[in-house]
Amino acid sequence: MQQALDILKKYWQHDTFREPQDKIIQSVFEGKDTFALMPTGGGKSVCFQVPAMMKDGLCLVISPLVALMKDQVANLAERNIKAIALTGGISTDELSDLLDNCMFGNYKFLYLSPERLQADWVIERIKELPINLVAVDEAHCVSQWGHDFRPAYLKISALKKHLSHVPFLALTASATQRVQEDITTQLGLDTPTLFKKSFARENLAYMVFETEDKLHRIQQILTKNTEPSIIYVRNRKACHDMAAQLQALGFKATFYHGGLKEKEKEANMDAWIKEKAQVIVATNAFGMGIDKANVKTVIHIQLPENLESYYQEAGRAGRNGQKSFGVLLVNPSDVKVGKQQFLDVLPDKKFLKEVYLRLNSFLQIAYGEGIDQTYQFNFNNFCLHYKLPATKTYNALQFLDRQGVLTLSQQFTEKVTIQFIIPSKEVMRYMSLNPADEEMVLAILRNYTGVFDIETALNTTLITKKAKVTEEQLLNLLHRLAAKEIITLRSSGNDSSITFNEVREDEHTINRISKFLETRNEIKAAQFEAVIQYVTNNNKCKSRQILDYFDEKDNADCGICSYCINKNRKPASPVESANAILALLKESAQSSKQLEEQLGLTPDETIFALQILLENNRITINNNNLYILK
Ligand SMILES: [Zn+2]
Repeated sequence: MQQALDILKKYWQHDTFREPQDKIIQSVFEGKDTFALMPTGGGKSVCFQVPAMMKDGLCLVISPLVALMKDQVANLAERNIKAIALTGGISTDELSDLLDNCMFGNYKFLYLSPERLQADWVIERIKELPINLVAVDEAHCVSQWGHDFRPAYLKISALKKHLSHVPFLALTASATQRVQEDITTQLGLDTPTLFKKSFARENLAYMVFETEDKLHRIQQILTKNTEPSIIYVRNRKACHDMAAQLQALGFKATFYHGGLKEKEKEANMDAWIKEKAQVIVATNAFGMGIDKANVKTVIHIQLPENLESYYQEAGRAGRNGQKSFGVLLVNPSDVKVGKQQFLDVLPDKKFLKEVYLRLNSFLQIAYGEGIDQTYQFNFNNFCLHYKLPATKTYNALQFLDRQGVLTLSQQFTEKVTIQFIIPSKEVMRYMSLNPADEEMVLAILRNYTGVFDIETALNTTLITKKAKVTEEQLLNLLHRLAAKEIITLRSSGNDSSITFNEVREDEHTINRISKFLETRNEIKAAQFEAVIQYVTNNNKCKSRQILDYFDEKDNADCGICSYCINKNRKPASPVESANAILALLKESAQSSKQLEEQLGLTPDETIFALQILLENNRITINNNNLYILK
């Protein structure tokens, strides 16, 4: 495989393949159908990019992740390799032209959304292209038993029939035995060779800590480990808050989330990459394309949605092979909050039907019509008009998108984003000088209290209603305020859009897809239940718990996780513990939980030591139920 190595060196500047990349490449190069089961971050893309470069012709990559496709196309372009991505939101004419370009334009990679295969003419055109390899990324999407079933993936088997001479490579990061077999059947793979990379990460210590004071615990961790860290938080606001709190404690912290301007994203990311900032506080938008090897700690301060994403995010620590930590901080209310965040917002059949019918009346689509039509769509207006809860409605629309009923354009929830950049006192002055604007400015200030501190996405419909003005008047005001440098203003310009892929058929449509909805909701609930198990099961090695979840049984204890450390530690001496407690109480009053955390004692050891001190009259309990010196 010298040729493969040469290509790797020439285009990727790497000298060696990682296990089992070379074996996968060899298998594909020999023209065999191949199944690659590798964790994310295991170097999946090289497995099809390198063999495709070894042959004449074009590699077809099918992926559901638009952002990832764009990222890879840009990445290939940097290496002077011609690639193109045909995603949703491209008109039929444009698509036809672009497929022509693939025929004659010397492209090496064609990235395609699975929805594109729904039109038979697209499959016909692909048949004419000089395809040398078909890579099916996120292949579990073809299985109803996978966690992200997309019916559009079923069309790939039609392609397989037409391209029987071309090897297919199925790639996935998560597939149980059942899903694996299903993928092979559904894609019509011809006795594929299976390559599996273990999910084990020997140098990564999984830690679960129960704590009532998460900030304090983070402070301890970051003081002890001064190398680069990532802290994952639930939402954008928490990003700003946590970064500010860490800065106040003297840490160099920055933040990253999907709502930042491109420039700001780059600057913050750069500060962290170049280690001007020790910590980056981020939402799960942070991850794609990060290639920093020396991350020491990845801390989650809320429960993740599932262990798949947890494994991926925690796995960004220790890529250099050095000992590193994946820390999950939990307190007793987290399970309840997590359920609200992830499970209560899943639409059921009744709600899905309501959203579907409302959407059709909102866009004035008659029964039996709507196919191939694209409509401008304002999500906020829609929710407000029918008093629908935003997240649950978004999930319902997304489900219709996954099922191929319609195609949503991306990021339509944020249209106008502003932040006041002068003190509030100055804003009051502006209002007194410009009474005509007063109502609108007040409506913004009343509804968005944080608008002085962070960039805030405005629900323009809400504001126009409250201030009794038109959208035009409001936008007009915002532009004037921006021109006077009173606010920063960012608007995404275009409205979002929805394209219908089939005709409106009410009951028929909903009944057809609702059985998948039930399966999906069950899977999501089971996934979150596994997260709860992971944080509450203190009787088994954390690494083994994760590997079990990915169907890798019979592993030995890792020896470095929170469970293993606790199991192997020697019991603390009661006298030493009691003295340590006295030293801490000299500083301030403490609860037993706080003492336990600071001293690294078990609850039993703490209570025993406190008992000794109480009996000897050295300490007592104050009115707030805290221990103090006597
Ligand atoms: Zn362990």
